[in-house]
Amino acid sequence: MEHLDVLIVGAGLSGIGAGHYVQTECPWASYAIFEARDAIGGTWDLFRYPGIRSDSDMFTLGYVFRPWDGEKSIADGASILQYIKDTAAVEGIDTHIRFNHRIVRADWSTEDARWNITAERTDTGETVELSCGFIFSCSGYYRYDHGYQPDFPGMERFGGPIIHPQFWPEDLDYAGKRVVVIGSGATAITLIPSLATTAAHVTMLQRSPSYITSLPAKDPIANALRRALPGRSAGEVVRWFKALTTQAFYELSRRRPKLVKTILRKGLERQLPSGYDIDTHFTPSYNPWDQRMCLVPDGDLFKAISAGTASVVTDQIESFTETGLLLKSGTQLDADIIVTATGLELLFIGGIDATVDGAPIDLSTKLTYKGMMLEGVPNLALAIGYTNASWTLKCDLTCGYVCRLLNHMREAGTRQCTPVNSDASVTARPLLGLSSGYIQRSADRFPKQGSKFPWQVHQSYLRDYRALKMRGIEDSAMVFSNPVADPAPAIAS
Ligand SMILES: Cc1cc2nc3c(=O)[nH]c(=O)nc-3n(C[C@H](O)[C@H](O)[C@H](O)COP(=O)(O)OP(=O)(O)OC[C@H]3O[C@@H](n4cnc5c(N)ncnc54)[C@H](O)[C@@H]3O)c2cc1C
Repeated sequence: MEHLDVLIVGAGLSGIGAGHYVQTECPWASYAIFEARDAIGGTWDLFRYPGIRSDSDMFTLGYVFRPWDGEKSIADGASILQYIKDTAAVEGIDTHIRFNHRIVRADWSTEDARWNITAERTDTGETVELSCGFIFSCSGYYRYDHGYQPDFPGMERFGGPIIHPQFWPEDLDYAGKRVVVIGSGATAITLIPSLATTAAHVTMLQRSPSYITSLPAKDPIANALRRALPGRSAGEVVRWFKALTTQAFYELSRRRPKLVKTILRKGLERQLPSGYDIDTHFTPSYNPWDQRMCLVPDGDLFKAISAGTASVVTDQIESFTETGLLLKSGTQLDADIIVTATGLELLFIGGIDATVDGAPIDLSTKLTYKGMMLEGVPNLALAIGYTNASWTLKCDLTCGYVCRLLNHMREAGTRQCTPVNSDASVTARPLLGLSSGYIQRSADRFPKQGSKFPWQVHQSYLRDYRALKMRGIEDSAMVFSNPVADPAPAIAS
């Protein structure tokens, strides 16, 4: 049976990053990336709706080791996908990918100090068995087979197409049509200006408003820095500049919510037509960053509203009708196409059934160690990005840390590393500190964070930088052991 030192799950943005780190920092390690789909890119290959783009800046969503060199800081989905593919090809990471292999089971055996893995071939249905010394799960955070779709009354009565953005039909013709987009999150506000360029009219139907702020698609300060600084150092400086300014705005939002609400409101007043009902449509009941803040490049959503090609309705759905939607207020919204931008269904570790020495891992009872490993689960790390900044900022740190951990074990001749909490005063809290519906719906199935280091999840690049890059690998919570009779040669095969 095949044995790998490291098994990476998923060939998305994080999995390709993980491949880079493992092959450069741990050249001794045999590794493969198992990918359930037949393509690289994960999110950036799956989502194909009109206007798909990043909603955080590319200088921090790009990898540290291959700085984003596009002019635009908010990039379209196709460019991001190409960037991931190019990274994989340039470094030969793509030769390590096993496409159409979904990892379905992982059973840790302390006696053998290895994971026994079962993968299913998604093309042939065959089962593939192998073992590995370490699992690095880069499987993202949501289900690929379906999105979140509430069961609205009367959906079957509607005469036109009902589309979920996760499965956008390539041939959908919306030119000259009346489109209603249900939702007020990042997907809805990305889609609407794009649809509005050819649709007869686009209505954003929201139950409640979100905070939306506009940023230039081309960041003038970042681009000036890039021009002024030589080659590689420009990428590094711009990345830090964007990471720190994003973090500073987040901290300001948490500490001075009133001030940030005022700043955001002034921005809206400048960009929306005079007299626009900002109170109803753009003033959330919660504080900035209680939920992820939405970003529009160059105010594109506000431009569409000002031009009259898009509008916002804040109401609730009573039922779908043959010709559109009946709202709780009694209003009928006519539509030719209805888009349910109602979100994702979250999923942890790619839905893998995992056990440790025969005992199923109940994720909901586990604390996360440094936001990247699980209490009581040996030799497994997870790439989970930030909710308040670019995903890759955290994943790059996690990848670097995992490689240091692997090298440390190899040098010390230990085969097993298990985060263990022996501090009874550590209390559990929700892993992701946002009140957004999609997070609350799944919070009970997710691991928790603890109230103290190293069990806390900081959502702060600076603090994680210190914790994951500058501190040693050994600490009182990480237990290294060597359960197998033959102590050498660490986790190498
Ligand atoms: C529409 C959209 C826009 C986004 N925009 C941003 C943004 O601007 N900035 C930001 O920071 N974040 C954004 N995100 C979050 C985004 O998902 C991350 O930025 C990033 O792409 C995640 O990369 P990933 O590789 O960790 O996960 P994914 O992109 O989800 O890739 C995971 C891969 O793992 C594979 N996989 C899963 N389970 C298994 C299994 N059991 N076996 C084998 N393979 C498996 C999947 O098929 C997939 O290819 C966005 C998300 C969405 C949905």
